[in-house]
Amino acid sequence: MLECAVKNGWIQFVEFIETRCSSAEYANWIAPIRLIEASHEEISLEVPNIFVKEYLLDNFKDVLADFLPLKGSGEPAIRFVVTALPSSAMTSNAPQDPEEPTPSDLKLNPLYTFDHFIEGPSNQFVKSAAVGVAARPGKSYNPLFIHGGVGLGKTHLLHSVGHYIQEHHKKLRIQSITTEAFINDIVDHLRAKSIDKMKRFYRNLDVLLIDDIQFLQNRLNFEEEFCNTFETLLNQNKQIIIASDKPPGQLKLSERMVARMEWGLVAHMGAPDLETRVAIIKHKSELRGLSIPNQIAFFIAEHIYSNVRQLEGAINRLSAHSRLTETHLNEDVVEKILGELFQQDAPNKKISIESILKSVAAVFEVRIAEIKGESRHKEIALARQVAMYLAKEMIDDSLMKIAASFGGKTHSTLLHAWKKVSDQIQINETLKRQVQMVRRNIET
Ligand code: ADP
Ligand code: MG
Repeated sequence: MLECAVKNGWIQFVEFIETRCSSAEYANWIAPIRLIEASHEEISLEVPNIFVKEYLLDNFKDVLADFLPLKGSGEPAIRFVVTALPSSAMTSNAPQDPEEPTPSDLKLNPLYTFDHFIEGPSNQFVKSAAVGVAARPGKSYNPLFIHGGVGLGKTHLLHSVGHYIQEHHKKLRIQSITTEAFINDIVDHLRAKSIDKMKRFYRNLDVLLIDDIQFLQNRLNFEEEFCNTFETLLNQNKQIIIASDKPPGQLKLSERMVARMEWGLVAHMGAPDLETRVAIIKHKSELRGLSIPNQIAFFIAEHIYSNVRQLEGAINRLSAHSRLTETHLNEDVVEKILGELFQQDAPNKKISIESILKSVAAVFEVRIAEIKGESRHKEIALARQVAMYLAKEMIDDSLMKIAASFGGKTHSTLLHAWKKVSDQIQINETLKRQVQMVRRNIET
């Protein structure tokens, strides 16, 4: 490949990706990448931090391989250069005032750190975003809005950012508070006629972590105060991170508030897949000095799947039990101890790759062998991507295993297909209906 062709390859890749990710994703992850050099053997890219590199490789390795020179191993030949941060970006010059919060005011759960946060496909994106924000508060995604179901690790991630900033940006003034506590704070200060002091406190922060914003709904008087604080901080590039059980658009809050929250990066935290649940069980049980064999960890993870907090409850029970008795943990014993925690309606237990392939093949009028094959013919490729999308959505198994059942594809191909179809069904009504039709066929 000529140097110029390689350069063009990169430009074409960027153009291709731009049509395939949301504009926020593009602005946050792709736009900051700079092409420094291209030779016929490799391409050098400058990235602002390691997370951008990870994001690129995790999501687009296969696509990159189509556009760029390859290494002997078949991987795209990219050399990454991470931009160094100027040291001034790491510290705050604001004078310390004894009245203002000091890090000791900060209440963070000591176990909620990045180190104790287990990553998997369902939370990788949001974790990278949180790590990015912790590394460069106020300089990357602001606000960062994290939403997802109960017990999936939102508060854990919020506190992880707090710990990291406390450790690495010692001078930054940071506060972590639940929305309830914030409202109570306002009430107390109104009563004590010290509301100005409180406003000053919050508006002088460098980083505000605010949990469970859904509790601001239907609290009109407080919403306005909150929104003002929010705007003041954002206007000064102070970092805000919000956790919520719903995306901004679904919260019953004023348009102004919703718009502010959508300003930065909105990241979804999904329920962990089977392998991640197993990793969480292993990690949490080791923390409690309990050793759970792999087979038992899988057994528990197969039966408790929608909430990490329940997984922890299960480990606590097992750990209490093992302290009291010497019984060896096998599936029967575990089922006796945990039986009532086990979820009955195991999700999509019976749905198989075969049934997905069959329905997709019927609706898209292609053959199953073609879906599993390598053809890049447009109709076949689309059917393959839809089948991969549905497999990831409907089958609770490791991505690697699912991908392998498509004629040995890789897990990044699967993620790429999933992302593409999820985006397309937002804008392409025909495709959305076809996918719904396949889904109904599979479910009935
Ligand atoms: P949420 O705020 O989303 O309701 P939490 O952050 O309180 O959930 O998490 C519930 C529990 O599950 C916490 O003890 C947390 O440590 C644990 N947890 C959730 N996700 C993970 C994860 N990915 N890795 C490790 N622990 C997790
Ligand atoms: Mg929480």
